[in-house]
Amino acid sequence: MKTLGKFGKYGGMFVPETLMRALGELEEAYSRFKNDETAQVEFQRLLRDYAGRPTLLYHAKNLSDKLGCKVYLKREDMLHGGAHKTNNGLGQGLLAKYMGKKRIIAETGAGQHGFAAAMIGAFLGIPTEVYMGVEDIERQRMNVLRMKVCGAKILPVQVRPGVGTLKDAVNEALRDWVANVHDTYYLIGSVVGPHPYPTIVRDFQKMIGREIKQQIFNAEKRLPKAIIACVGGGSNAIGAFYHFVKNKEVELIGVEAAGLGLDSGKHGASIARGGDGILHGSLSKVLQDKDGQIQEAYSVSAGLDYPGVGPEHSYLSEIKRVRYESITDEEALEAFELLSRTEGIIPALESSHAIAYLVKYAKDCAKDDIVVVNLSGRGDKDMEQFYKHYKEKI
Ligand SMILES: *Cc1c(COP(=O)(O)O)cnc(C)c1O
Repeated sequence: MKTLGKFGKYGGMFVPETLMRALGELEEAYSRFKNDETAQVEFQRLLRDYAGRPTLLYHAKNLSDKLGCKVYLKREDMLHGGAHKTNNGLGQGLLAKYMGKKRIIAETGAGQHGFAAAMIGAFLGIPTEVYMGVEDIERQRMNVLRMKVCGAKILPVQVRPGVGTLKDAVNEALRDWVANVHDTYYLIGSVVGPHPYPTIVRDFQKMIGREIKQQIFNAEKRLPKAIIACVGGGSNAIGAFYHFVKNKEVELIGVEAAGLGLDSGKHGASIARGGDGILHGSLSKVLQDKDGQIQEAYSVSAGLDYPGVGPEHSYLSEIKRVRYESITDEEALEAFELLSRTEGIIPALESSHAIAYLVKYAKDCAKDDIVVVNLSGRGDKDMEQFYKHYKEKI
């Protein structure tokens, strides 16, 4: 009997009948893949030899001295491809191959997931096509080129002239999948979408927290006081949190994008300001107007610019196991500069939200309190965005 993939009341499969069979096939194949020792050994081998796991847990001493607590950075920015998305790309790419699919489709916002899909498509020899909103194509030119050089085809999405972001790209990808499910694998980039995706993607990211637990124990012989991670769809955060959910003494903090401010109407804070609703096939916290229409999300970082969040986060918020905070564009840009200047590490603008919250959190910390920040990705892709802001400031 199939489970419905619920996290409390959240999650589920709110999709047209035509997709139910595809999702059923995926759930069944994933359960075989998960229990297939040969497949799992291969996945672990490639995570190590191709992607570069385990990533380092780095004691950021300069930043620690500056903030007055003991800061460790989980260096997903050093993973092959420059962000945690490679974990999931590789996992689902291998699953697609396992299922005998001949084509991979994906959607992308920041371009990081599209690039992860393109990279894995090239590596596994599976033709890959990526849906991308026209606004994101504009904002993330470098990632578009990275996808193209790996041989992926970019499919631009616009709902009105010049208008199109991640949520529009997801709709197009779902439409494509319905039409081509016999030979096509839909590679979702975060812990969102209908069951079984939120579980599959979480499973492919949860090694982040498993490694943190081992590494912090080796370094400090104790658990951290807190783990902080940014939340777009929520995959890097759930990856970092999952193995700590049962360790009640560890504070888990997810950081959403407050954009121009929570009251400005221009933000991506689905948990802080959203309500229960259905987006892309599952029930979760979503940004919607009073008629239930999905609202546009906004953030300086394209990866946090999504009007929903994974159902497991909605649940963890409801049971108050994870605390969700938000950080504005301005604060994130300051943190981007702060980490670059103190440690010589340029974080992704998404990850900069977690760093910015660390700065606030550290004010109430003692000197030897350990705080782990999941540094989800590197900031090279964001230099133009940062420079634009920097020019405006001076
Ligand atoms: C895509 C992305 C995110 C947001 O996605 P999650 O699923 O919330 O992790 C965060 N950081 C980086 C570097 C990204 O590329």
